[in-house]
Amino acid sequence: MHELSYATSMLNTILDTVKNHNLKNVKRVSKIKLEIGELTFINVEQLKFAFQVISKSTICEGAEIEVEFIKPYVTCKECEYSGELEELEDLIISCPKCGSLSLKIEGGKEFNIKNITVEFEED
Ligand SMILES: [Zn+2]
Repeated sequence: MHELSYATSMLNTILDTVKNHNLKNVKRVSKIKLEIGELTFINVEQLKFAFQVISKSTICEGAEIEVEFIKPYVTCKECEYSGELEELEDLIISCPKCGSLSLKIEGGKEFNIKNITVEFEED
């Protein structure tokens, strides 16, 4: 299940970020916004579940996860078509204009943490 490795790197990145920014009195991370390329074929439900499990007893426990999908963006080496792929029904990616399989994938494999919402302890 590759969702677990994405969830792990997500958790480590967030914990590192909070640590590196030297944020004091962080109570919890309440919300995480992600950008996920459709070509990662991540199952968001599995990702959320894996994250829920591994973030137990960290500041990320119970964080709400919001996902924005990024469509694959390709350039065709045959006809020079350049644009998004609307239909992604199977694992075979072909040029929507000429059907060529000789494509350069410019985008769609992203896995980015766009932003996080942090709650602080009140003193
Ligand atoms: Zn083409």
